[in-house]
Amino acid sequence: MNRILVIGAGFGGLALAIRLQAAGIPTMLLEGRDKPGGRAYVYHEQGFAFDAGPTVITDPGAIEELFALAGKRLADYVELLPVTPFYRLRWENGKIFDYDNDPRRLEAQITHFNPGDVAGYRRFLDYSRAVFKEGYLKLGSVPFLSFRDMLRAGPRLARLRAWRSVYGMVSSFIQDEHLRQAFSFHSLLVGGNPFTTSSIYTLIHALEREWGVWFPRGGTGALVQGMARLFEDLGGKIELNARVSRLETHGDRIVAAHLADGRRMVTPAVASNADVVHTYDKLLGHHPTGAKRAATLKRKRMSNSLFVLYFGLSQHHSQLSHHTVCFGPRYKGLIQDIFNRNTLAGDFSLYLHAPCVTDPSLAPPGCGSYYVLAPVPHLGTADLDWHVEGPRLRDRIFAYLERHCMPGLREQLVTHRMFTPFDFRDELGAHLGSAFSIEPILTQSAWFRPHNRDSHITNLYLVGAGTHPGAGIPGVIGSAKATAGLMLTDLT
Ligand SMILES: Cc1cc2nc3c(=O)[nH]c(=O)nc-3n(C[C@H](O)[C@H](O)[C@H](O)COP(=O)(O)OP(=O)(O)OC[C@H]3O[C@@H](n4cnc5c(N)ncnc54)[C@H](O)[C@@H]3O)c2cc1C
Repeated sequence: MNRILVIGAGFGGLALAIRLQAAGIPTMLLEGRDKPGGRAYVYHEQGFAFDAGPTVITDPGAIEELFALAGKRLADYVELLPVTPFYRLRWENGKIFDYDNDPRRLEAQITHFNPGDVAGYRRFLDYSRAVFKEGYLKLGSVPFLSFRDMLRAGPRLARLRAWRSVYGMVSSFIQDEHLRQAFSFHSLLVGGNPFTTSSIYTLIHALEREWGVWFPRGGTGALVQGMARLFEDLGGKIELNARVSRLETHGDRIVAAHLADGRRMVTPAVASNADVVHTYDKLLGHHPTGAKRAATLKRKRMSNSLFVLYFGLSQHHSQLSHHTVCFGPRYKGLIQDIFNRNTLAGDFSLYLHAPCVTDPSLAPPGCGSYYVLAPVPHLGTADLDWHVEGPRLRDRIFAYLERHCMPGLREQLVTHRMFTPFDFRDELGAHLGSAFSIEPILTQSAWFRPHNRDSHITNLYLVGAGTHPGAGIPGVIGSAKATAGLMLTDLT
């Protein structure tokens, strides 16, 4: 029997392929790059290992579930290490907030900022937990195929005041501006503007409090390798350097995938983990449905892009936490610029990753591997020349880090590389260089997002950040569960 093809070995593609193969459906993963992982690619340079993307691992149970399906244990493939504090948040006025899972320590810090906000924080946590229950546990891995599904969820969303923004909701409980930022920035981790994204995304706080923040020993890349190995142990096949250039159709069915190297693979069904616009526009643009969907998708709002700078230093900066968020001088103004303005702002906020705090093996002895990222506009918002802007922004960020938290950085620099919106576009096929696909605003969520199964091309399925529920590792692993459910019903 010809294998089902999953295009793309991101977390979503891998999780789907594991589910299909574990259910006895012969599956092949076709990945365009030379390694699996997608946004979770790994660079190795001069003894340093750099995880390219996701570093905050939450909901380990969803990953564990994939291994359990195969009668295995996650721990036999990769070890997850707890990260404490979850994040260190720093502001330019010198204030620091260690975002922690210990309720006593967390409330002590809130008291330090504003004693009056402890009661408000507790109410916020209750709200966040209620949203987590409705939005994540109940709806996070079910497909929204019909508007009726959406109508059914409507009353619950209304009860949770989902039309309000993340920041608006946090501000209704908490007064101190630092704390408002501390409890609202999370939606940025999945490409959502806290000022316009639905307050449903406050669920990330409850999710982290419930199940913790983790980091795989050996880096996120070790988790990707573990999932790839699990898939192969089950009998699945992975082809790397296998870029799909076109999906051949017969009527409204896909019959084969054409690869850039000239191969043609006949298949009973395809699930695409590639960018959704790329899927419909480039792979299916010759089919009327593909062309129509691509045109519709191009009118949607895309999430922001990122400028990512990976660097290895001859010194381990033990004063850092594993995850640090450096808030710049502006919060709302900067975010509005990133999402709406046709230029690069003069200031930035940064996320700094220092994995050697948890696992020193990711750099040569005594050294440290790091990455720092700044959210930036995607190429449709600001049509910048990143060959010029990249090096300029790199220099500004290095100077900033040296001044604020990593003294001596430039003297200790051994190696570095940049990943710009051009790379999201060219390496990952991301429409407009978006880092997180379609922006997760209420009118582009659930049923309003591209569906996990196409309603017209009868054997086409989608998985990953562009479909329901959306970006982030828990999101795309949830999407794989939703898509696998449909495929197993249709194909067995
Ligand atoms: C810098 C960064 C940091 C992040 N940090 C976090 C974090 O800490 N925690 C978290 O939960 N989330 C984080 N995210 C979000 C998360 O990484 C993504 O939402 C998620 O990994 C996307 O997975 P995906 O399944 O949609 O596939 P992707 O990772 O987008 O992978 C898609 C794959 O498809 C392949 N492909 C595309 N077109 C073709 C083709 N034509 N033929 C063959 N292959 C093709 C690509 O090469 C790629 O490997 C981060 C994202 C970024 C960019």
